[in-house]
Amino acid sequence: MASLVLVVEDERKIRELVRDYLERDGYQVLTTGSGAEALTLARTHAPHLMVLDLRLPDVPGEEVARELRTFSSVPVLMLTAKATEDDRIRGLEIGADDYVTKPFSPRELVLRVRAILRRAPEVREHGQARSFGAGLLAIDESRHEAWIDGHLVDLTPTEWRLLLALTARPGRVYSRSELLNRVRGEEFEGYERTIDTHVKNLRHKLGDVSGEPGIIETVVGTGYRLGLQRDG
Ligand code: CA
Repeated sequence: MASLVLVVEDERKIRELVRDYLERDGYQVLTTGSGAEALTLARTHAPHLMVLDLRLPDVPGEEVARELRTFSSVPVLMLTAKATEDDRIRGLEIGADDYVTKPFSPRELVLRVRAILRRAPEVREHGQARSFGAGLLAIDESRHEAWIDGHLVDLTPTEWRLLLALTARPGRVYSRSELLNRVRGEEFEGYERTIDTHVKNLRHKLGDVSGEPGIIETVVGTGYRLGLQRDG
């Protein structure tokens, strides 16, 4: 399975550059420009690695790393403009696994990411169960299992592929034809509207109640997406 990398960087250009390079290298990528949201995403999505900028507008990267370590051992690759040895040591002291000094080559960053993940196989194992929807939904890609509130959900192969497609990039909207391409299997008829039926069945199994914000959201006129994390 593809490892999930959370990129925390408030400068949009750098954020998108890093995301593009990581995606090109086969990683799943979540991004945010906020330190507070980074902590939320780390809790809800259990990424395999976090790329963390030290200078963030809301919560400084050092604080994010410190707070992160109270509930997660996810490897952290720091992005820093501070190149002095003191800063580097401080970064490593607060739990960063490695650092890259700006300006950096995105290719080098990808290599660092790859190196960290290679030497952290135990973290990758743990990371395979990812939680969505305020921790209600957890999926284990290696076992092809989805859990709701600790209960195993019995999914058809098509429903499983549909769920995986949606969870690959939480919040991203997928059109029916995109989902169709991603879940196409032997039993699949090939009409875009069949996606609606599969989504309906999947929602039912996941316990989504109509009229309430659910794990799978309909985006009118466009398609579907995984609902974002909710409080409570
Ligand atoms: Ca910054």
